Amino acid sequence: MTTRYPSTALPVDFAQPLPELRARCAALNIPLDLAQVRLLHAYLGLLLEQRGQINLTGIQDPAQAERLLLLESIAAVIAAPRLCASPTGSAALRLLDVGTGGGIPGIPLAIAFPHLAVTLLEATRKKVNFLQHVIEALELGNVTAHWGRAEDLAHVPAHREQYDVVSVRGVGSLATVAELALPFCRQNGMLVAFKSLPLDSELQEASHAIDLLGGHEPRVTPFNLPELPAPHCVVTVTKSAPTPQQYPRRAGKPAKRPLSPPSSAGASRAKRRS
Ligand code: SAH
Repeated sequence: MTTRYPSTALPVDFAQPLPELRARCAALNIPLDLAQVRLLHAYLGLLLEQRGQINLTGIQDPAQAERLLLLESIAAVIAAPRLCASPTGSAALRLLDVGTGGGIPGIPLAIAFPHLAVTLLEATRKKVNFLQHVIEALELGNVTAHWGRAEDLAHVPAHREQYDVVSVRGVGSLATVAELALPFCRQNGMLVAFKSLPLDSELQEASHAIDLLGGHEPRVTPFNLPELPAPHCVVTVTKSAPTPQQYPRRAGKPAKRPLSPPSSAGASRAKRRS
């Protein structure tokens, strides 16, 4: 069955006045004009209207969605200021959003920072259809949607080590997302992972994977915004060496068996054998 999409770009009547989001972003030194705020809300409207049909987000309340989806996506700039840096020369900064679902954080970032060239990567066809509808309905000229898995696309030369920023939210543990995302980062490119605190054990478990995949030491930046719940944070990892060709491993493996140090892999194999 094909999904029918509404013809109007603003299907949800937002209780919050438009200037709210604008003021919140202005406080972060991110100036949004009215057209950008309208686009962000139009996107949220489409997302919330379709959320039940294709599992795009668990959030129902528009005001909460504005904070947790729009503001949080855009606020990643606190941890990754390069997102709002003007490009030098004519080349746009390339951003890949791995496991974008309904377009979070890729679409809010593309609207807030129009100089970004954003590619949305999503494994579920229905979600990609929705993303394509959003791109057309809102005429987002700097966004393309790609149907596929990170494990496959990362081995395609046009995408491998080609991106300045790779974002990922809600896709898995840090070790898993490192394997899915770091192969797409160019040298000095950056992985931007949205996570929740505490992260101590996840960071420890991921440190071997990050190292192996060419990432530099991860940095954790809590949002510390009154509008966002305290445990939310962004983990950034800068790529300092090329990713060995064998990574990512085949589809499903990074999530099922995250990369772990040889000693602990040996230990868990021994445990399975006993
Ligand atoms: N980033 C979105 C969606 C999170 S849900 C948000 O924060 O709202 C995770 C999404 O990642 C799902 O839509 C799933 O289909 C997609 N996904 C999971 N593994 C993937 C992979 N290996 N390659 C591409 N997409 C993947």
